[in-house]
Amino acid sequence: MIDITESLLIRLAGVRAFGQGLSRHDKGGVQSVVTAGKMAEAIVQDRGSHKVVLRRSHSMIEGECDCEASGGIDFCQHCVAVALCLQDELPTRKPASKRQAMTAIRRHMTALSREELIERFMNLIGQDHALRDDLFQRVRFASGGLSFADLKRMIVNIELNGEPWEHKAVVAFFEEFETILLRIREFADRLDSLVLLRAAEFGVQHFNVEIQKISDYGDYSDYWDASAELLCDLHVDAVNRLDWPPVDLESYLKDRCQSVDWHPAQWREDMQGFEGT
Ligand SMILES: [Zn+2]
Repeated sequence: MIDITESLLIRLAGVRAFGQGLSRHDKGGVQSVVTAGKMAEAIVQDRGSHKVVLRRSHSMIEGECDCEASGGIDFCQHCVAVALCLQDELPTRKPASKRQAMTAIRRHMTALSREELIERFMNLIGQDHALRDDLFQRVRFASGGLSFADLKRMIVNIELNGEPWEHKAVVAFFEEFETILLRIREFADRLDSLVLLRAAEFGVQHFNVEIQKISDYGDYSDYWDASAELLCDLHVDAVNRLDWPPVDLESYLKDRCQSVDWHPAQWREDMQGFEGT
């Protein structure tokens, strides 16, 4: 059925009658509205009472009123007042689902120019500290040439803040740590292979220091495993890219295997062993 909009009512009644009908409606002049299917009847008080009948179809709305202006045919101010009451009663639109909203936003943005898009995006970033930091980090990675010192600073800044038994603090640590590892992996090919190797090793060390504070593998096993796996991946990737002579590579890997505290899974295994006894 047709939507009752302000512009439709102005088209039907004219600006003047629309204004009068609006004020009649706002003052509560419409009474005893009865709707039945596409028809609505009501009484409108205006120096005497007027009987109004509205009929709605899919493309039109017709009104009749017993006042002089309508003469039983024209869409008068009283018809406007009743139509506005019907508009009030229309169910408001269902809130859009996330997917519908995303589709609509995508469509809207596709129509914007590149300059408009950048302008809006920059405004958004200006208001959002976390997004700004995240994007700036991405820019630094993408531009290449990050040193080990740069990466080390990023990694070491991710600490378990708050008390280790606070679930939120622990989850925040794991999420942040995982995020930096994912970023390093995403931009690994822009990093020098030795920088990547050192970053992976430092990541393991730092992880091992921080998770000692948690000492609770069970509740966080998903987070824990995700970071441990990423660290292993990064290390394997870095080692694969080394162009060392086989003998040096072998001695490096042997050394790593024998070092008890460097492996990201080490503490977890200790803890599981401990829990098992
Ligand atoms: Zn009328």
